[in-house]
Amino acid sequence: MASFFDTSIEFLKGVGPQRAALLQKELGISTFGDLLQHFPFRYEDRTRFYKIREVTEDMPVVQIKGTVMRMDLAGHGFKKRLVAQLKDETGSMELVWFQGIRWIAQKIGPGVEYVVFGKPARYGRTISIAHPEMETVSEWGQKTGMLQPVYPLTEKLRSRHIDSRLISRIEQEVLKNALPHIRENLPESLLRKHSFIGRREAIQRLHFPENLEQLAAAQRRTKFEELFFLQLRLLKMKVVRMEKYKGQVFQDTSLLTRFYNEHLPFQLTGAQKKVIREIYQDMKSGHQMNRLLQGDVGSGKTIVAFICMLLVIGSQSQAALMAPTEILAQQHYNNLKKYADRMEIPIRLLTGSTKKAERKIIHKQLQDGTLKILIGTHALVEEEVKFAHLGLAIIDEQHRFGVAQRSKLWQKTTTIYPHVLVMTATPIPRTLAMTLYGDLDISVIDELPKGRKPIKTTHQYDSHRLQVNAFLKSQIEAGRQVYVVYPLIDESEKLDLKHLMDGYESITRAFPDYAVSILHGQMKADAKDFEMGRFQRGETKIMVATTVIEVGVDVPNASVMVIESAERFGLSQLHQLRGRVGRGAEQSYCVLMTGFKLGAEARLRMETMVKTNNGFEIAETDLKLRGPGDLMGTQQSGLLDLQLADLTKDGLILQEAREAATAILHQDPELSSMPHLVIQQHLASLRKTAVNWAKIS
Ligand code: ADP
Ligand code: MG
Repeated sequence: MASFFDTSIEFLKGVGPQRAALLQKELGISTFGDLLQHFPFRYEDRTRFYKIREVTEDMPVVQIKGTVMRMDLAGHGFKKRLVAQLKDETGSMELVWFQGIRWIAQKIGPGVEYVVFGKPARYGRTISIAHPEMETVSEWGQKTGMLQPVYPLTEKLRSRHIDSRLISRIEQEVLKNALPHIRENLPESLLRKHSFIGRREAIQRLHFPENLEQLAAAQRRTKFEELFFLQLRLLKMKVVRMEKYKGQVFQDTSLLTRFYNEHLPFQLTGAQKKVIREIYQDMKSGHQMNRLLQGDVGSGKTIVAFICMLLVIGSQSQAALMAPTEILAQQHYNNLKKYADRMEIPIRLLTGSTKKAERKIIHKQLQDGTLKILIGTHALVEEEVKFAHLGLAIIDEQHRFGVAQRSKLWQKTTTIYPHVLVMTATPIPRTLAMTLYGDLDISVIDELPKGRKPIKTTHQYDSHRLQVNAFLKSQIEAGRQVYVVYPLIDESEKLDLKHLMDGYESITRAFPDYAVSILHGQMKADAKDFEMGRFQRGETKIMVATTVIEVGVDVPNASVMVIESAERFGLSQLHQLRGRVGRGAEQSYCVLMTGFKLGAEARLRMETMVKTNNGFEIAETDLKLRGPGDLMGTQQSGLLDLQLADLTKDGLILQEAREAATAILHQDPELSSMPHLVIQQHLASLRKTAVNWAKIS
């Protein structure tokens, strides 16, 4: 049954086929429902009057009450214009018209008091408004809505004379018919608990608020509603998954105990212990685990991963770890192999460059169950890789993986899904984590191993390069090693690659006594391994690289990170890069190199880096600077189907919405009780919309 909201806007008074096509193409509005959800992005406050003396050219728009004193024609030809003096008790200003002069001259008369509205500008010492909106004071007094909606538009729409006023008229028209059709979608109890206004009123007030209080109430309710349904969908997926997918039960801790007693190389931090406990609880619960493990760089996620593998292997099951790059996979393999060898657990590495003979062995040993740990890149998800019994799939640095790949790894076992642990070193602000990973459980390692010295970060201008080089020299002479990183945002960028090669050459010239390594994404895998190996063994003192070293590379003796053109990196990337140092016992340094001229935002990024080592603090700032869409990447932006709510600002409402959704699902997972039917109905209507939720898991 087609509902009122599915009606094409073509049939709305004042729209018609041509405008309908334009609105569809430019704003994606095709139905009444879409139109109602197309909210103003700001409101012009018509309750506030400015005195002429208060008006400055920086103000976006102002409303002034004043009397027109005199009107003159000035200039000739193109420059011909009508200029009126507007005066109030504090001063005077000019109103200027370049077009429609004759008509304006007839309509506006000297000696009359007007309400004037527009964008102020300054010419010399005179403040003026070009083409202001004018109403006589009595006309103005007859208006009701004092907050005028301003709707998002495009250039194309403007050029076709579709402006905010026209949209506002169309909205008025659709609202008139829509009101009886708008149904409440939050249960009575929630409305009462949070003193929310009803949905009908909220939608109406969002378009046409009479005052700021009304607007605020409408926004609060609508933001809650958006976030509530978002969380409800995520949590529901989790509930469904928990019911549908039974988990393998792993509770044999004998291997783990042996490792603890005989081979644990250091004391685990409290945070590591806590996280291992959380994971253990999941693994023996009978439910399939889907857990995100967040831990800042250097917080020690690798050993946690290994200990979880022991739980699985202790019950004759297998574990896999998938990393986003070959270098990282190799590194994980090297680290884990040290532990695995001590425990005499078979472990192998599978990447794109694994030789055929080795592949054959891997395939065979996976299937007969003798191979217990497989580390690798996305080569792990290839068709012919089959496990006898995969109990745990660990995915490192998830921000590099597509969701599709993640679920592919799951399908390695047809009978029962493995437990999944996603590890990320990207600190994600709570609000975003709740949304992005709303269907995962989250564990956080929020403590670094003892004895780490905080990295000292400085910001240097390119003009100080000599001093910086002298500093690098002193560090190398003291036995340390240095990274120099160049931005290579897109590995195929020729110009970036040239900068890197130029940088490499100037470094070899500046440091003739030391061997220098180079590493970038276009090198063959064995060339990369070769360079990485030389640096790891300390044969080369300087590593010139692109961001391929961003994740996971671990050379404890490297204690200086120089980041060239640091302004070209985002905050989280800078933080990731910096995390490559500070892994050993020595004092570590990060030097951010930039030109002298910097935008305000870039400067704030540098300042933030210098000020703090705390990944979560950095992530919060990053979220504020870039907005959630950017942080999540386009791949998942469908999740952010949010019209009003803003994850950077509405953390509190999000928290409330999540709590409410959790409580309701806990009480009534099917949402089938009387008071929750409204929720169920609304969810069903949402499901028809474009976002494919099944893809996101
Ligand atoms: P990340 O979380 O970035 O993957 P790693 O697992 O690579 O961190 O650990 C960083 C370094 O810290 C490694 O050299 C590791 O051996 C060491 N490490 C991990 N946990 C501890 C601990 N509890 N005490 C001391 N050192 C630790
Ligand atoms: Mg790591």
